[in-house]
Amino acid sequence: MKPRLGVYKFTSCDGCQLALLNQGEGLLALLERVELTHFPEAGPNAPEAAVDIALIEGSLSTPEEAERIRAIRARSGQLVALGACATAGGIQALRNATEAGSAWRAALYPQPEFIATAERSLPVSALVHVDLELFGCPIDAAQLLAALNALLAGGRYRPSGDSVCGECKRAGHGCVLVGRAEPCLGPVTRAGCGALCPGQGRGCYGCFGPSAQANLASLKTVFANLGLPPDAIERRFAFITAEAFRAAGEKHG
Ligand code: SF4
Ligand code: SF4
Ligand code: SF4
Repeated sequence: MKPRLGVYKFTSCDGCQLALLNQGEGLLALLERVELTHFPEAGPNAPEAAVDIALIEGSLSTPEEAERIRAIRARSGQLVALGACATAGGIQALRNATEAGSAWRAALYPQPEFIATAERSLPVSALVHVDLELFGCPIDAAQLLAALNALLAGGRYRPSGDSVCGECKRAGHGCVLVGRAEPCLGPVTRAGCGALCPGQGRGCYGCFGPSAQANLASLKTVFANLGLPPDAIERRFAFITAEAFRAAGEKHG
């Protein structure tokens, strides 16, 4: 019997699921090795079935999602969190920095009493044990397929903790920070995307979250020396992976 794979959506834009769907031949090869038990975006819909590997997309942003992730955890073998939403709360976690309570709901919705949100938007690891986190917004789907191959072979997969700068240099991209004086978060951002943005001549905005030894204070000094005012510097880190960068700042400075 093939291992069973489930793909579950929580609060998200579906982009990480689409990255997997867009893998074409890689996805077809994967499907020869697994039984796709639950993946509504691709067809199979069995939300209550037990699976060997659960892929989780999205942050936990409602009381219902907190219950659902615990149930999925209980009937899953390995649980993998996919992307900035599932690993860091994503863009929706920006509300965590606002005042507690429901003021923002009243500002957005005419009848906020019908909007059931949790007090904070959380990464999956905040509520249940996560076996593996894959980063990015969206994930690098080739990295996901490599991780699944490792798990299906009974092995482990650990994403690199190095920064985007290493990938950027190995790819031979010109440095937009040094060469064009453009802010780039590559020095403090986890590798894994192949330095996609510098390869297009633009700075990294940190979608893979902080690298293992991210020295935010040092990069902020570099940005200040480029002439960025303090609020503009802070906004650079208050984006898709804001919660993760905040935690990294507390840990490494
Ligand atoms: S990490 Fe990005 S691409 Fe993936 S679901 Fe969240 S917002 Fe969408
Ligand atoms: S462009 Fe960005 S990621 Fe590339 S070497 Fe320069 S600072 Fe690092
Ligand atoms: S360069 Fe930075 S922002 Fe661009 S894909 Fe890579 S990690 Fe994300």
